[in-house]
Order: sequence, then C-alpha cells, then structure tokens
Amino acid sequence: MSILVNDNYQNLAQNYLFSNIAKKVKAYTEANPDKKVIRLGIGDVTLPLVPTVIEAMHKAVDEMGNQATFRGYAPECGYDFAIEAVIKHYAAWNVELGMNEVFISDGAKSDCGNITDIFGDNEILIPDPVYPVYLDSNIMNGRRISYLAANQENGFLPMPEGVEKKSYIIYICSPNNPTGAVYNKEQLKEWVDFANETQSVIIFDSAYEAFIKGDYPHSIFEIEGSRTCAIEICSLSKTAGFTGTRMGYTIVPEQLVCSGTQLNKMWNRRQCTKFNGTSYIIQRAGEAALSEKGFKECLDNIAYYMENAKLIADVLDEKGIWYTGGISSPYIWLKCPNGMKSWEFFDYLLNELQIVGTPGAGFGSQGEGYFRLTSFGSREATQEAVERIRKGL
Ligand code: PLP
Repeated sequence: MSILVNDNYQNLAQNYLFSNIAKKVKAYTEANPDKKVIRLGIGDVTLPLVPTVIEAMHKAVDEMGNQATFRGYAPECGYDFAIEAVIKHYAAWNVELGMNEVFISDGAKSDCGNITDIFGDNEILIPDPVYPVYLDSNIMNGRRISYLAANQENGFLPMPEGVEKKSYIIYICSPNNPTGAVYNKEQLKEWVDFANETQSVIIFDSAYEAFIKGDYPHSIFEIEGSRTCAIEICSLSKTAGFTGTRMGYTIVPEQLVCSGTQLNKMWNRRQCTKFNGTSYIIQRAGEAALSEKGFKECLDNIAYYMENAKLIADVLDEKGIWYTGGISSPYIWLKCPNGMKSWEFFDYLLNELQIVGTPGAGFGSQGEGYFRLTSFGSREATQEAVERIRKGL
C-alpha cells in the first residue's frame, strides 16, 4: 500500500527541453575543456537591470530597514502602485483596465502553470511549436490537448479556420516563442470572434510585447470583444531583464464569465489562497521599469538585443539559410541547413562550431527541422558566433 501520486506526470516527456540541452553542453565542455562554447540557446537576458530600476530597488531596501517604512506581507494580488503602473502601460495602447483586473505575480511561468487551477476538464488548443509550459502544465492536469499546427505555409500563425467549433481553452503567444511570428489586429480579431462564438477562453501570452516593431497589437485587449473571452499573461522578464528579479502580471477582465462564474473572482480567490504576494522591493522595481524613464532605458536594452538579432539574420542571409523572426522578437527561427533534423543540427553546431542553440523539435513536433537562436547574448559573443557561422557553416 502506498499513497497515490498524480499519474498524469507519467505522460510528460522525460526531460524538460533545457535540461536536455544543459546535459549535452556539460558533457561536451567536460570532454573539450579547451573549447570556448557560445550559448545562444536558452532565452535568458544578459544585460544588467537599468539604472532607474536599481535606484528604486535600493530605495525600497532602505525602506525595509526602517521601522517607519518597513512592510510585511504584500497584498496577494499586488500593491496599488504596481497595478497602477501596469494600467498606465496599457493606456498607451488605449486599453483601459480596472484596478481589480490586474494581478501582480512573480512571473509569467507560474501564472501560465497556475491558471489551469481555475478551469475544469476542457479541451485545450495549443499552437505547435510554442513555449512548452502550456503543454506540460495541461498534461500534469490530465487535459485533452489538440494542436494548432504553425508552419511555413501559415507563416507560423495558425488561424481558427478549419478548427471544429466547440469550447476550448486556446493558448496564443504573440510575438511567439520560438518562431517570432506576430499576429496582426485582423488575425487576433478572428480568434476573438471564434472564442466568443464557441464560448472558449483565450490565454494570451504577451511576454515579448515590448519587442514589437510596427502596427501589431501588444495586448489582446486592443481587440474588440476580447474582454468576454480572454485572459492575458505578461512578464517583465524580457521587457526589463527581470528573469532573475521575477515580476509578471495577469489580467482577467470582469466581463469574463464561464458557466455563470466570473473568472476574475476565481483567479483572485486562487491567488489569495495559494500565493502570498510579490516582494515589495520587486514590485517597486517593476513600477520603476514601467515608468517613463525606466521603460525608455529598457527599450535601449531591447534595441541592443535587436542589433544582435540583425547580425545573426545577416549571416543567415549570406548563407542562404531560411529564417523568420528577429524583428518583433529576440528569437531567430531558422530552417536547419541540408535537411538536418533539429537535434542533428544542435549536435553539429555544438561539435563543429561550439555554438549552443535550441532545437525546434523541443517546442513541438512541427518544430522538427527548425532551430532557435537567441539575440540575448552579449555583442561580443554574438559577433563571435556569427563569425564562426560565416566561416564554418
Ligand atoms: N511566456 C513565454 C512565451 C516565455 O518565453 C517565457 C520565458 O521564456 C515566459 C512566459 C516565462 O516568463 P517568466 O520569466 O516571467 O516566468
């Protein structure tokens, strides 16, 4: 006799994508200690936090050391000042949000995983390829999952046309990780109309919104009709380099009602029960990142990364290697040369050029034969990787 465990975990792929990569890189570096490996794999930022954020954090730390300004538990759903900063950020796109519609968290990954708590046994629609957390968190809950194939033919932007009309939880990530594809307003309107018609819920991940160039929606709430069918999850990880600092937010509109229940109230209840708030210091940092001055500094960092993306794109152009992304996204999504499979190309790049990327197959079966390179490296590392590709590929 033993206690029962969640058997759904047996259905997860054996290893999380990035642990697999780390293992392979570790084995290679141990066997080749003299070789300098350049890591353009994991989507982690490398530039330090911007000065306005650092200043705000120092001030908040001092407040915590002073009896008069010390703070204990934060409000579970966020301090008003942080919520107001998010609301102001959205006002730039003419999106109006209420104070009780924004929930401050410790990042988008937790919210992506935790949001499944408030839903029952629905069918899930997940783009393929995409950020793996949507899939794994739903596998953990034993959900029925269908895929939306994203491929070169549809510009890596699957549309509702041809999808059977019934209720789903639909995940949309725009700009997309890993492909860098971005939905325009008309395309998102089609998804919103589909969701309202079928009483589905869209979970919109806008983690890369700050990278958007041109006239694309930064938020699903720019789309008419979205307040009755969408939840948005976002993060300061890529916007402000908060991957190690940790702050995100989820927006659940008041009008979103499923089976007679307001999801906003459910998410509030879920957070108040299982989450004890993001640290005061971090919320002050987030407020600073979204302030006019702080955000400008963050955009300078993003511009730096995008110059890296341009260097990578240029060498791929020279080599005649097909790619997309790298314009409204920090990721370049390329077709593996010479018909190589994703992991084959991974091994080739690691062994021959000592460059680490991410195999497209790790983001879904449609990613097979593709590969992701990130522009989040330093300029020097990116330049060196580009030179190696120029000479060796
Ligand atoms: N959503 C997408 C699409 C991502 O690519 C990532 C991180 O890579 C996240 C969410 C996770 O963000 P956070 O660092 O806030 O947990």
